[in-house]
Amino acid sequence: MRKKIVAGNWKMNTLPAEGVELAKGVVAMRGEVCDCVNFIVCPPFTHLAQVAEALKGSNVELGAQNCAAEAKGAYTGEVAASMIAALGCKYVILGHSERRQYYGETAQTLNKKMEQVYANGLTPIYCVGENLDEREAGNHFAVCKQQIEEVVFNLTEEQFKNLVIAYEPVWAIGTGKTATAEQAQEIHAYIREVLASKFGAAAEECPILYGGSCKPSNAAEIFAKEDVDGGLIGGAALKAEDFIGIGKGFMA
Ligand code: PEP
Repeated sequence: MRKKIVAGNWKMNTLPAEGVELAKGVVAMRGEVCDCVNFIVCPPFTHLAQVAEALKGSNVELGAQNCAAEAKGAYTGEVAASMIAALGCKYVILGHSERRQYYGETAQTLNKKMEQVYANGLTPIYCVGENLDEREAGNHFAVCKQQIEEVVFNLTEEQFKNLVIAYEPVWAIGTGKTATAEQAQEIHAYIREVLASKFGAAAEECPILYGGSCKPSNAAEIFAKEDVDGGLIGGAALKAEDFIGIGKGFMA
């Protein structure tokens, strides 16, 4: 049985007090969804510690949205994976399309970040996905394959066992446009095939999340698909009720 995951990417939203309130709201409502669903919240760096405190004693886990490519040293403004781990984070989102697009994050950087994430006992949530032009040109399979080959294929078998993939079509992120459940299943199954070509049967155990305008009203249909193991949630993760409501998609 693959892990079922609903992870919230808060992006650059919430002030510390708001983040703590949101985390407390998620904890308060968490019991409405079975323990078989893993909930993860990924706040901004600035309030990871306070949110960690708010999550204490709950089974809502903590993740960061990024980490540095280097271990430590003279890298002004960067946050090391070791620092994130020390605050109680278990996960780190890597390769989000916003980081690839706005901050020029390349496969080379992502490979270094991956190294740091594993060196510090964290689990990467590695994002892949095509933009609208690539989808319209029918290149979405090739784009995802390349994003996997250039980073995930460099992992050891041991590291691969501790990896979460998020398929996030860029055209669906924050746009209100969602991939259909069929589109999601088609590409998730393909991604699993690509993973299997390198890691064999272990690919069956790798959670692949869907991300892109996922909300309580469409989660059940998408999560019902065989190769969709949950969601990476942006906008709807900023309201505890919606975030938990998405998790309820597994119970429909
Ligand atoms: C995201 O950016 O990871 C995301 C899925 O955003 P949204 O849910 O807002 O489309």
